[in-house]
Amino acid sequence: MIKIKVSNLSNGNYDYDFEGDVSDINVSEPYSGKFFTTVTLSKYDSQIILDSETRIKANLNCDRCNKEFSSDIVSKYRMIYLFRQNIENENDDTTDVIYLHPDADKIELDKDIRDFAVLAVPMKKLCLEDCKGLCPRCGKNLNEDSCDCKDQISDPRWEQLKQLIVKNKLK
Ligand SMILES: [Zn+2]
Ligand SMILES: [Zn+2]
Repeated sequence: MIKIKVSNLSNGNYDYDFEGDVSDINVSEPYSGKFFTTVTLSKYDSQIILDSETRIKANLNCDRCNKEFSSDIVSKYRMIYLFRQNIENENDDTTDVIYLHPDADKIELDKDIRDFAVLAVPMKKLCLEDCKGLCPRCGKNLNEDSCDCKDQISDPRWEQLKQLIVKNKLK
């Protein structure tokens, strides 16, 4: 459980670091390994403003070439905890405001860290920003190798130059 003790916390700014196994915060695929969370908290008389940044390694499959690759995904959020004597309604999941009783002794972060980490998984997953994908004709991964499918009519002098460029990129 990731929690920050807020009872008797004086007004001011605080920093916290958390790390642990993804299973500690109930995060699963595509994430694996450890999570690292940095929290900055500002305490005022009537509210707490909390900024959280989490970094976790994810194993993804490239949408273009289907290769498995790993990437650090960073998820950030800001949450506002408003102190309120009477909390009539349940806290609403769709806002970034949480009501907190003035006598609350702690705030718990697991669920928010998990929810925002899940949201941060990109819709489009690319192993490289300019992944060349697979050749539609022969299926070769064009990041690793070139194929002859579309170069059959190109000038051999250009071919040499292209290979030079590819070699330089690989360095
Ligand atoms: Zn790719
Ligand atoms: Zn090909």
